[in-house]
Amino acid sequence: MRVPLLNMKAPHEELADEMQTAFTRVLKSGWYILGQEVSAFEAEFAGYCESQYCVGVGNGLDALHLLLRAYDVGAGDEVIVPSNTYIATWLAVEYAGATPVPVEPDDRTYNIDPAKIEAAVSSKTKAILVVHLYGQTADMDPINAIAQKHGLKVIEDAAQAHGAKYKGRPAGSLGDAAGFSFYPGKNLGALGDAGAITTNDAGVAEKVRVLANYGSEIKYKNSVKGFNSRLDELHAAFLREKLKVVEAWNTRRLLAAERYIHALQKTALKLPYVPETCKPVWHQFVIEAPQRDALQKYLTDAQIGTLIHYPIPPHLQEAYASSGWRRGDFPLAERMAKHVLSLPMGPHLAPNEIDYVCQKLIDAI
Ligand SMILES: *Cc1c(COP(=O)(O)O)cnc(C)c1O
Repeated sequence: MRVPLLNMKAPHEELADEMQTAFTRVLKSGWYILGQEVSAFEAEFAGYCESQYCVGVGNGLDALHLLLRAYDVGAGDEVIVPSNTYIATWLAVEYAGATPVPVEPDDRTYNIDPAKIEAAVSSKTKAILVVHLYGQTADMDPINAIAQKHGLKVIEDAAQAHGAKYKGRPAGSLGDAAGFSFYPGKNLGALGDAGAITTNDAGVAEKVRVLANYGSEIKYKNSVKGFNSRLDELHAAFLREKLKVVEAWNTRRLLAAERYIHALQKTALKLPYVPETCKPVWHQFVIEAPQRDALQKYLTDAQIGTLIHYPIPPHLQEAYASSGWRRGDFPLAERMAKHVLSLPMGPHLAPNEIDYVCQKLIDAI
């Protein structure tokens, strides 16, 4: 048996008719940028996130970058970020001209540890950019309380968390604003790059809309130096079809996660920890193993696809060589990079595939 980390074909086979219809609708409309599909998707996705506003943009990195700009975060400012995240979180801060200030995670949830945030707040801090890593929301109540106390904005990097809940409320509605990615491999994915922001702040939504469209509110009148980062009509049309099934597909991921946990709970592997406040959407199913590299090789030899999210924390990336961070500066992020392993996950992962992966894991350890 061969089990891929993520089956990218099956979802699109299941929705082939819907995707074809969406394509034909856009093709025949004669309108390909900023039209009805984008407006309709924005309204539908805002509803899904229980937010008042949604603005489509080109990708998840731009969603975060443009939000920071909309909040006037720029040169000389600091933004608190998790030490363990995809580098895009940090780069969004750099794009805005500000400095990312890393804070270590809670080693059970992998999300930013609220207890460590205040020590990182300075007079330059403008925002906390939290990540809902692997599809589980960060511990938002204490984070929002710290932000309130220090007058900071809270921005969610919800790129991995479409539909995830915290105390019954969805990602995208848990801070001042949120950035989403619709990269094909995310829980809600387009057939290429796409992204969006959600917020209840009308002013910020409008600023992002203008920034993403060359800084222009009225065609050929540019109020600010903007960017070209628009959600395409075609992707919006595809996303509208996929939005109809995202809840059902997240439920399938949940069932897969439960099957893994049931089969592996008696092993020495460290399994995902889910606090009572959280309802994750299982973007990734991440375990920790002491001999992670040997285990990954064993699984690879058994035709099981795995990946490490993430093998090198941002502060140790070559891209950050000039910033002076050293090995040992963020030991938890570094430990995770050494021990975490993402197992196959997705709405089209079959029970017998999960059983095969679990059997191989049990054989290996
Ligand atoms: C995917 C991802 C992003 C970036 O999204 P793109 O659409 O690829 O730009 C940002 N943050 C996290 C946590 C992600 O997983």
